[in-house]
Amino acid sequence: MSMRTGSNSKQRLAAELCAVTRMLEDMGILQYSGHIAVRVPGENALMIQRRSDSRAELEPERILTVDFDGHVIEGDGKPPSETAIHIETMRMRPDVNASLHSHLDLAIAFTMMDNVQLVPMRARASRWASGIPTHPDPSHIKYSEQGRALAETLGPHHVALMRAHGLLLVAESLPALISDAVHFEENAKAQLQVMNAGAKVKALTAAEIEQILKMEDRPHHVMKMWNYYVRKGLAAGTVEKDWDLLEG
Ligand SMILES: [Zn+2]
Repeated sequence: MSMRTGSNSKQRLAAELCAVTRMLEDMGILQYSGHIAVRVPGENALMIQRRSDSRAELEPERILTVDFDGHVIEGDGKPPSETAIHIETMRMRPDVNASLHSHLDLAIAFTMMDNVQLVPMRARASRWASGIPTHPDPSHIKYSEQGRALAETLGPHHVALMRAHGLLLVAESLPALISDAVHFEENAKAQLQVMNAGAKVKALTAAEIEQILKMEDRPHHVMKMWNYYVRKGLAAGTVEKDWDLLEG
């Protein structure tokens, strides 16, 4: 979210990347693996963590820049083995500036149920009104062809589940990505609660979604969520003060 002059600088993006990764790890949406990438504005390149760095302790100066051929063009170290997920998604989707690959338990659970489709239940899940596809390849995404196949499953949508493996969530910015990740998990929990209650799942209807979207102010909501989590992170020590990440 470029609300401040220069907020798209690589330094700023590296700090946002570290903050979002650490905060999502703290929430359990990322764990010992999984990663986030952010597009370098105007270049066929993205920024991503080193493969073996702890998601709980990322440092901006250790972030790598990787081109869309998978070569490290800035920084020293190896990117995650599944970097192709982010490269092929950003190559195919110019609107995507930030992407999350996580092995979120709840996302995986919904790929292992017969005849159950994860659907938008809660108001904020109207973000996924166009659909929540499931990618059939359960293996590690190591090659460009696999990344392309996943990006094709994602299509025009904002999330794809990965069978028995995890999810790919995409957004226009890192602050939007953390907001969406939180709401995605809330929605999956809500559906599971309904199913655990033995009740019939009542997804949002098309008319309800239309009404929700009419009232929606996404930039405001993203900024509110961003400041909430950054402040929380500052208090807990997951976000560092000198990253200067508060907005508005
Ligand atoms: Zn994975």
